[in-house]
Amino acid sequence: MKHFTILSTMILSAAAFAQDKPVEKPAEPVKDTLGYQTTPMIPGSKWHVHDGLRPQPRIVTPGEYSTQEKVGTAPSDAVVLFDGKDLSQWKSGNGEAKWKVENGYFECVPKTGTLGTKGQWGPDVQVHIEWMAPPPAGKGQGRGNSGLFFHGRYEVQVLDSFDNPTYPDGQATAIYGQTPPLVNATRPPQTWNTYDVIFNGPRFDAEGKVLKPAYVTIFHNGVLTQNHTELTGSTPHQQVGKYTKHGEKTDITLQDHGNTMRFRNVWIRELKPSGE
Ligand code: MG
Repeated sequence: MKHFTILSTMILSAAAFAQDKPVEKPAEPVKDTLGYQTTPMIPGSKWHVHDGLRPQPRIVTPGEYSTQEKVGTAPSDAVVLFDGKDLSQWKSGNGEAKWKVENGYFECVPKTGTLGTKGQWGPDVQVHIEWMAPPPAGKGQGRGNSGLFFHGRYEVQVLDSFDNPTYPDGQATAIYGQTPPLVNATRPPQTWNTYDVIFNGPRFDAEGKVLKPAYVTIFHNGVLTQNHTELTGSTPHQQVGKYTKHGEKTDITLQDHGNTMRFRNVWIRELKPSGE
């Protein structure tokens, strides 16, 4: 009787198990209702031409462009680094930000040093920044000078280049000491200039060899001034720069060159390949 009970329990359990076991059916192929699966493969990709199963790009709500009178807004997926109110996302050295905030902008306080973000992004980023030079005083590199740095070593020059000749690789939107801008699109001092910068960070191997150099694309007031320009290394003064291995994420730093430069509407977007 006891054996019978055990045996029948086993049989019943096995039957229950068999019932619970999911029936294995081949997965239904996902139907491409948006495009084609019968078209050729795109070389170097895992997608067909017009492949409707390819991931849809993320939705981003665009911001508003600035005018001279009214500051714009950032796209929905940007990190806003300055919204007109405070420098909570910035630091001077490792301490509190020493530049001053007023009337919706911040201003370099000469001799307080570089202003840098607390955060880091990348390796590839889009940066928007607007700047205004003070009334003209001095000339060349001495007039309305600052700089937008990536990794603290690659400078996109910020300079009042309106009617202010200097060495071309030191003008507004020059890759400092390397590549002059394609054109000079600078607005006069005491008006707002906009920079939209795409920075593709360099990649290094474990030994520090450059696998891919840095590239920079810049629109200055909407005009293309650097077109996927390759950087040959860092951007020192009076020297040829070189690459030295650094991390993949970058902070943003602004140069204190002794001029009361103003900045507003600063934001950054980390760039990812499509479909990620
Ligand atoms: Mg500079």
